[in-house]
Amino acid sequence: SVKDIEKALSREPELNQNAITVLEKRYLKRDNNGKPSEKPIDMFRRVALNIAEADKLYDKNANILASAKEFYEQMVTLRFLPNSPTLMNAGRELQQLAACFVLPVEDSLEGIFEAVKNTALIHKSGGGTGFSFSRLRPKDDVVKTTRGVSSGPVSFMTVFDAATETIKQGGTRRGANMGILRVDHPDIMDFIYAKEDKTKLTNFNLSVGLTEKFMQAVLEDKEYDLINPKTKSVAGQLRAKDVFDKMVQLAWEGGDPGIVYLDRINAENPTPKEGEMESTNPCGEQPLLPYESCNLGSINLGRFVKDGQIDWADLEKTITVAVHFLDNVIDMNKYPIPEIDRQTKRNRKIGLGLMGWADMLAMLCIPYNSDEATKLAEDVMQFIRDKGREKSAALAEIRGDFPTFKDSVYPAKGFKNMRNATITTVAPTGTISIIAGCSSGIEPFFAIAFYRQVMDNNKLVEVSPVFKDIAKREGFLTDELLDQVAETGAVHDIESVPEKWQKAFVTAHDITPFWHTKMQAAFQKFTDNAVSKTVNFPNEATVEDVRRTYLLSYNLGCKGTTIYRDGSRTGQVLNVGTKD
Ligand code: ADP
Repeated sequence: SVKDIEKALSREPELNQNAITVLEKRYLKRDNNGKPSEKPIDMFRRVALNIAEADKLYDKNANILASAKEFYEQMVTLRFLPNSPTLMNAGRELQQLAACFVLPVEDSLEGIFEAVKNTALIHKSGGGTGFSFSRLRPKDDVVKTTRGVSSGPVSFMTVFDAATETIKQGGTRRGANMGILRVDHPDIMDFIYAKEDKTKLTNFNLSVGLTEKFMQAVLEDKEYDLINPKTKSVAGQLRAKDVFDKMVQLAWEGGDPGIVYLDRINAENPTPKEGEMESTNPCGEQPLLPYESCNLGSINLGRFVKDGQIDWADLEKTITVAVHFLDNVIDMNKYPIPEIDRQTKRNRKIGLGLMGWADMLAMLCIPYNSDEATKLAEDVMQFIRDKGREKSAALAEIRGDFPTFKDSVYPAKGFKNMRNATITTVAPTGTISIIAGCSSGIEPFFAIAFYRQVMDNNKLVEVSPVFKDIAKREGFLTDELLDQVAETGAVHDIESVPEKWQKAFVTAHDITPFWHTKMQAAFQKFTDNAVSKTVNFPNEATVEDVRRTYLLSYNLGCKGTTIYRDGSRTGQVLNVGTKD
């Protein structure tokens, strides 16, 4: 009954004012006048109850309310949050719960516009889409039926971009796309330059799909073959180093294109018999098969530091509940098209990750740019993956293995059961980290304090709550200090801050690209899918600095790299309109 539910799910969500504002703007149900018709507590109840319902599929007598209570407690204490579409849509008419999709783009007009249509359906529901355009014949290739010539992948991408621009996502957020082209596609140079004009393809992130062959050719300074995807014949050669240098140059100029290591992604494909992975979702953290989708969820690590120690038992509990939650999401999801429903349920991938990593490090007084931090990153991620796999195996005993388990890579590795073909992903957590009031994903702090313009031209100092707590506890908190920090955002060289805390509250700009990349690689080591991370460069960084970072990320085993040089670009594709 309603009474029982309200009693079981009664703990007040621990939200700050920013979080409440974001929820009211985009997540809560609205009435006909556009006013929120639910409170944040109702949203968490709606999500918990809806996701718990999946238990009934496996046990008619399942105690839904008990599961709902577990889910609810994890969310309102901000230990765990699912990705935005789940918070927005669970228990509502739309019921589309996943953030990540990859759609195939076939080399025919029908195929291309089929993908445009499916993109529209996905964007309407709050999901992001990734595509590989590598199957499209190059520009000026013959089109048989019309005797004309094709306009090529880059020109077709503008059609997807325009469609995205037009469909605002159910009034919640505007769409986001990833576009990938293999480095051996004949149109690769057009693709690399596609966003040089910054008014073009504004709803796309672009990544060049690099192959091992290509990387070897770069290292040996050789030429490599371009292949026409339609005829499979060699269409020319390029000097690998020239192509690599151009990519680096343009990334230095404006952040695009990024790179993904396609062969590496496929070497770790857990279900190779299901097909090849040719693209990722918009922020790069989730490689998927064509027509596959994945739902994400993130653990807020700051919540697990108690008295300067990590509470591993509490963390394990959250991991266990989170895997149960995310597996349920797969069943409760209303997929935009039948192909996606089918493919997603064959491999049942989930993407459990984390946020609040910078918070955790600061609480433990460990500088982000240190070996101690990258070592802890490995330990934490390994723990999440190991405990996540244990729970997935336990679920499989009751619910069955994911349908393609026997043909997957798992049996040969000694796994007896798995409910999910992947468990871990590190997402950017652009919006859910605001809801949780924590640092985003695995990124370092951007600023420890900053001025926010409020009404009447007044300025308000906004401070990292972790810094405030520690400064108070350690006895160095003053109003003057906060003003001083807000001037630059950083605490280094502020004398009233003890040196060890200056180091522990290091900010993105004081962390070298080397440490950004080392951190990404440390998390990647224990991440089934991929890791979302921006490698920040100071404005004065050189093209050579970027080149070195690309090679470092390749050597350290990252699945891709996204860089951003300070001041090189205004406005970004993602989370525009969710952060204001
Ligand atoms: P959130 O914090 O809202 O849950 P993230 O910032 O972690 O989302 O992004 C996770 C994934 O969600 C992205 O890689 C992308 O697939 C999708 N996504 C994020 N923002 C958008 C957006 N504005 N439109 C469409 N998809 C998005």
